[in-house]
Amino acid sequence: MISTSNPISNTKVTVAYGDGIGPEIMDATLRILDAAGAKIEPEVIEIGEKVYKSGSKAGIQPSDWESLRRNKVFLKAPITTPQGGGYKSLNVTARTTLGLFANVRPCMAYSPYVETKHPLLDLVIIRENEEDLYTGIEHRQTNQMTQCLKLISRPGCEKIIRYAFEYARAYNRRKVTCLSKDNIMKMTDGLFHRVFDEIAAEYPDIEKEHWIIDIGSALLADEPERFGVIVTLNLYGDIISDIAAQIAGSVGMGGSANVGDQCAMFEAIHGSAPDIAGRGIANPSGLLNGAIMMLVHIGQGEVAAQVHNAWLKTIEDGIHTGDVYQEGVSKERVGTKGFADAVIARL
Ligand code: NAD
Repeated sequence: MISTSNPISNTKVTVAYGDGIGPEIMDATLRILDAAGAKIEPEVIEIGEKVYKSGSKAGIQPSDWESLRRNKVFLKAPITTPQGGGYKSLNVTARTTLGLFANVRPCMAYSPYVETKHPLLDLVIIRENEEDLYTGIEHRQTNQMTQCLKLISRPGCEKIIRYAFEYARAYNRRKVTCLSKDNIMKMTDGLFHRVFDEIAAEYPDIEKEHWIIDIGSALLADEPERFGVIVTLNLYGDIISDIAAQIAGSVGMGGSANVGDQCAMFEAIHGSAPDIAGRGIANPSGLLNGAIMMLVHIGQGEVAAQVHNAWLKTIEDGIHTGDVYQEGVSKERVGTKGFADAVIARL
């Protein structure tokens, strides 16, 4: 358990180990933060499969919302959402209940240390996190017809698009690209695009562009280096951030910050990877990169930099988990624990 000699300055963080590979990558991540002297005090809550199986449709005990509201910082491993049966995705519920309107997903290539066709890839996807098709409003209209409602609000668009431009300014990114499908969804995606144009006019120092999501995704897969900050709707952002992480090297490398006015949640972009769970081979980098963003968020930027540098050195030294291991490029294939040990040795 992480603690330091000065518990008064520790920041309480709600931690969930999740499902599948979650416990393995959370263990690795917390061990690294502990070794780096991060001043955090984890408050562990149970979420996911076990809670769903106990009869909860939400995947979290009602009392654990208290921990989230009190601590306002959540480090969360991936969970498995049961299919059908009226179960709600806890990821979606947490984002909407805690008002986490912006999902920030940085993605870059680590060439030549990690094999990629896109060595110059270095972009940030800013995904709207509360609206769109994720509101879970679905109906069966007849035996033959189902319906899912797509909700897009002007305040929601304004908030996320302004966030993207402010992010670009703060991190010296010179361009913000909007991706939407307003040629077909003229009202919902059309609103997103219109608000983008309005807000872009307030930021003359930042270049703006817009692509329809289909050709935008094709360009992302082919020439990702042309993008800096991408702002897009919830579903498109979910899909293209997996693509961007995968073409950079592995979906196992990407971390994400879910940011709101009061609370923030940090996680890997990937899921619970049940196909490799329990084998000790998962890459903990995605969750670790989320945790590094968390350290910056709680004002521990120096520890964040120390952890990030040690992680980069591990990658550069060719110490790789199986998902990024490449004969002739990598030096040593390690499991989750071995990777964490290697990062700790480089702190
Ligand atoms: P996934 O991201 O779990 O796995 C996709 C592929 O990537 C698998 O082959 C997996 O082995 C590999 N992979 C993922 N993370 C890896 C890592 N860290 N190291 C090495 N390889 C890794 O996607 P999926 O299989 O579609 O989803 C599995 C479950 O996760 C589903 O129940 C889904 O609902 C859930 N999910 C949860 C979250 C979340 O909690 N934030 C996000 C996405 C999916």
